[in-house]
Amino acid sequence: MAYDPNNIFARILRGEIPCKKAFEDEFALAFHDINPQAPVHILVIPKGAYVSVDDFAAKASDAEIAGLIRAIGTVAKQAGVSVDGWRLLSNIGTNGHQEVPHLHFHIFGGKKLGHMLP
Ligand code: 5GP
Repeated sequence: MAYDPNNIFARILRGEIPCKKAFEDEFALAFHDINPQAPVHILVIPKGAYVSVDDFAAKASDAEIAGLIRAIGTVAKQAGVSVDGWRLLSNIGTNGHQEVPHLHFHIFGGKKLGHMLP
């Protein structure tokens, strides 16, 4: 799938649409999900234009990959979920039920989460 530069997260990255920011550095932006599914529900996205994990793994530099994973760890720690545990999720493509075509990781936490089954 080709990257659509007008997807909603690209517009958030450009500051065209507001978000409740949790973290930002040169590699990543993190913001609270507009429709939270847990007490903590934060989305972490790369600054680069990648559709999904597939696209990111194939095209991103090692620095971008390391930067995004480090940002995820920092966000979880800052959100206070690292102590009791949390969940990291990325939906990919049609079967994965990905709605927004800019790579994003969901951080869920703040309560004991249920089992995650397909
Ligand atoms: P996906 O199904 O693509 O993994 O999840 C997309 C997520 O983005 C959903 O949890 C949805 O609530 C969230 N979302 C969609 N539009 C916006 C928005 O404009 N702002 C924020 N903060 N979250 C959004």
